[in-house]
Amino acid sequence: MNEVNPKDGRTVREVYTNKKGGFCTECGGTVESFGGLEKCPFCGTKGVPCVFQDDVNIVINWHELRILCVWAENWALQCDKAKDGGLQKTIISIMRRLHAQHLDKAQESPLSLLAEIAQIKEKYSGTEVEGL
Ligand SMILES: [Zn+2]
Repeated sequence: MNEVNPKDGRTVREVYTNKKGGFCTECGGTVESFGGLEKCPFCGTKGVPCVFQDDVNIVINWHELRILCVWAENWALQCDKAKDGGLQKTIISIMRRLHAQHLDKAQESPLSLLAEIAQIKEKYSGTEVEGL
């Protein structure tokens, strides 16, 4: 949060404290303002938060989004296995927010591979999955 942006000389913290509220990337907790915050008041992370001002609407096919989420989930899992990182927690939190925007699509075809495997196991009792 204290890295200086070479373009304008401001720290990440200064940039974010000059904008209005947003939410924690990791836990989704919201704040009306980032002013004076050293860390997330809900989970304590010092990671860069999401500013409401930076929310965007995009058009993407559900299958494309699933591909991105499954790859991100898999990569985060591998990174977390290699070293204690917590990337998976962040990716899962992002996927939950995406999931909540389209409950019908997510129930039909989950964004997470682990959720899809759980769905298959539930549908076909006795199914075992190896390699995860
Ligand atoms: Zn948090």
